[in-house]
Amino acid sequence: MNFDQHYSMTIDGKAHDSERKLDVINPATREVIARVPDATSEQLDLAVAAARRAFVTWSSTPLAKRQQALRAIGDAIDAHAEDFMRLLTREQGKPRAGAEWEIRGSAIWCREIANQSLPDEIIEDSSERRVTTQFTPIGVVGAITPWNFPVLLAIWKIAPALVTGNCIVVKPSPFTPLCTLKLGELCRDLLPEGVFSVVSGGDELGKWMTAHPGIDKIAFTGHTDTGKSVMRSAAGTLKRITLELGGNDPAIVLPDVDPKAVAPQLFWAAFQNNAQFCNSTKRLYVHEAVYDDVLRELVAYTKTVKVGDGSQPETQLGPIQNEPQYRKVLEYFDDCVSNGYRFAVGGVVDRSARGWFIPVTLVDNPPESSRIVAEEPFGPILPVLKWRDEDDVVRRANDTRYGLGASVWGKDLEAVQRIGSKLQAGTVWLNEIHQYSPHQAFGGHKESGIGCENSLHGLAEYTNWRTVTLNKVAFAKQAGAADRAA
Ligand code: NAD
Repeated sequence: MNFDQHYSMTIDGKAHDSERKLDVINPATREVIARVPDATSEQLDLAVAAARRAFVTWSSTPLAKRQQALRAIGDAIDAHAEDFMRLLTREQGKPRAGAEWEIRGSAIWCREIANQSLPDEIIEDSSERRVTTQFTPIGVVGAITPWNFPVLLAIWKIAPALVTGNCIVVKPSPFTPLCTLKLGELCRDLLPEGVFSVVSGGDELGKWMTAHPGIDKIAFTGHTDTGKSVMRSAAGTLKRITLELGGNDPAIVLPDVDPKAVAPQLFWAAFQNNAQFCNSTKRLYVHEAVYDDVLRELVAYTKTVKVGDGSQPETQLGPIQNEPQYRKVLEYFDDCVSNGYRFAVGGVVDRSARGWFIPVTLVDNPPESSRIVAEEPFGPILPVLKWRDEDDVVRRANDTRYGLGASVWGKDLEAVQRIGSKLQAGTVWLNEIHQYSPHQAFGGHKESGIGCENSLHGLAEYTNWRTVTLNKVAFAKQAGAADRAA
């Protein structure tokens, strides 16, 4: 399989091209590196029809065989890991370490989710009645993914869908379709036809999916505003939905931290994946007693980090992934400048650079109402904020429409846990960050999402409940009466 060319969709187990194409751009160079099919609505219909046909057999395939197929996908990803990593860096921009984390993580997820299952729950099993709740597959899942972690976030949907007996049609972001198209190609030999299709296209294709009568569930990761459109559109056919949306994660730093030791951890909490991360720390609240020291250490650490083309071995942070996002991040720089906020480091963007590069930037204590604090920039510009009173910082941390993640950092474990217990977020990390697991529920409170991915809770979102009650004695009594009458 050649990862450098021939990007085709996978529909009903076969390669499909289309007349219209989308350009895929390497964000480090702004060069077009591939042209991929822009699916028509008829091609989506084909993929959905194939999935519905395949569902009849796949849903009744023994669990052990479905688990085996998922493990085989994990093994195939590992076997082609180098190709996937190189391609991921080219289309997404992330340097090698990030690409490795994502690709190896995708293989691990396949194997671990393959170990999960939802056995029947026995509610009652007496001499008179047996009541069980079973978890049956929903049907055809439509998965819609963003451009920041295109492979892993697709696997977070593909793995639970397949193991629970659903079929799935995946649409990657138009900015990063290449690895997902190759994943589809790789799976043609590993799954029955129609079980897993990949269609590429723009936002319009996403809209067709959310309204499609043949799709029973949408698993979506992306922007909060898009998530609301997905929910509205999916309501027309009352599809099940899982929405993983935006965040404005706070980190709270206590006065007892060692500034030098904590600075690198806080840096990566905010800037991993060049801050194009739903769970990036997007507001850093530092206690006033250590504010100056922590800021100084963060500035010093920032100066050691190399931003550049992800294909170069020394690069630690890549470019912004696409032009609209680059323009959006620049707006936050302009807003800071026009309001006179102070940059502790960074702040000057070379707008003539070859790629969409932005220097890591720290904004020194801007007002709580500023755009950079209140919104999700999704780029390497972080407000560092002062706090004094614990109740007040908790109130500020929770004062957002988002509730995806949060973190607390300090030596006083009682205080760390006390503050953590008051934060409104789907994941609260204490003295660590970005620890994920296939067995750990991940999702958002408030406008950060609905439902969750990973864990048995996430698995259950790919199923319908079916409660079955059996009266063991009703007909036994009638049968006995009939025998006596005869
Ligand atoms: P986006 O919402 O613009 O696009 C996501 C996907 O939705 C793309 O495939 C896109 O083509 C498709 N799409 C766009 N409009 C659509 C519509 N009306 N109907 C159906 N599909 C549509 O998001 P993005 O810019 O690709 O990703 C960045 C956002 O994703 C950020 O807000 C980030 O916080 C969020 N995100 C959340 C998580 C999480 O797990 N909570 C993870 C990663 C990213």
